[in-house]
Amino acid sequence: VKGSDVSQIELAPAEYRSKGQRYYRLSYWLKQKFGHSVFKACLDAGFSCPNLDGTLSHGGCIFCDHHSFSPTTDVRLLSIADQVAKQVRKWERISKNSKYLAYFQNGTNTYADPQTLKALYDAALIHPKIVGLVIGTRPDCVNDEVLDLIASYQQRSFVNLELGMQSSHDRSLEWMNRGHHNQCLDEAVAKCHARKVPVGLHVILGLPGESTADMIATAHKINALKVHAVKIHNLYVTKTTRLSRLHAEGKLHLPSLDEYLDILINFIENLDPAIVVERLVSESPPEYLVEPSWILDKKRFLLRFEQEMEIRDTWQGRKLGF
Ligand code: SF4
Repeated sequence: VKGSDVSQIELAPAEYRSKGQRYYRLSYWLKQKFGHSVFKACLDAGFSCPNLDGTLSHGGCIFCDHHSFSPTTDVRLLSIADQVAKQVRKWERISKNSKYLAYFQNGTNTYADPQTLKALYDAALIHPKIVGLVIGTRPDCVNDEVLDLIASYQQRSFVNLELGMQSSHDRSLEWMNRGHHNQCLDEAVAKCHARKVPVGLHVILGLPGESTADMIATAHKINALKVHAVKIHNLYVTKTTRLSRLHAEGKLHLPSLDEYLDILINFIENLDPAIVVERLVSESPPEYLVEPSWILDKKRFLLRFEQEMEIRDTWQGRKLGF
């Protein structure tokens, strides 16, 4: 499959609904786009972040433990080409005929000069089973030069930029020490749209001080930004983060499983049905996690989510009139 023109494969919402699906799953979209199963090969190119190296702050986001995002031990000792090969071998034990997206996940994956970035992205695309790039970054780290480079990959490959939004409320961004406000995200998304680069946004539900109405406002903002996909996370605490100190001092409420299901379903009911949902819940390796422990049983979570959607007889975008 060449190029990233998501409009070519955009489905009418009713199409996945008619297949019994209550929300626009990533797996469904990937199958439509590529015609076979596609997995993400998670890569760690050793990028830092302006919110960690002192450019904006040394503390980072309040929840950040970037080792727990991709705790694949010593992957950073390997070249990008070797990391790709290792990830493909791992997935091939499960599925022989799959293809892969090279997912630059750890740190801020556009935080270097374009020549350095090009060498890393090119190295990932050499493997014959890689069909695209997914690049995770901050909205304040995508200048025109970098976006032009990313857009140029659309000639030969799928490419998707993941931006950390987290919340549509600037007071929440300040609380978590993001180091940017929402206006910065608006500008980054507009620049991606101008280059037809599909955008996925990361959001966190359950932030202190945010009501359900506040989180629904974030869903509405995502709709207005007309992005391709969203990754939804519940607020969770890992060791060695500043969030873990607040948690230890008893100053943090984390939604229970039932509370989170209610928040999540409200959010999805307010999400445009044309937006792909890439994730419904946070994941953390048990050795890093402090709380909530219910995220460790993802199968149970997904089952409860599906059951609750059935019980409520609801679906993505229902509260928007779809
Ligand atoms: S932007 Fe990402 S890598 Fe940087 S401090 Fe925040 S969570 Fe960590």
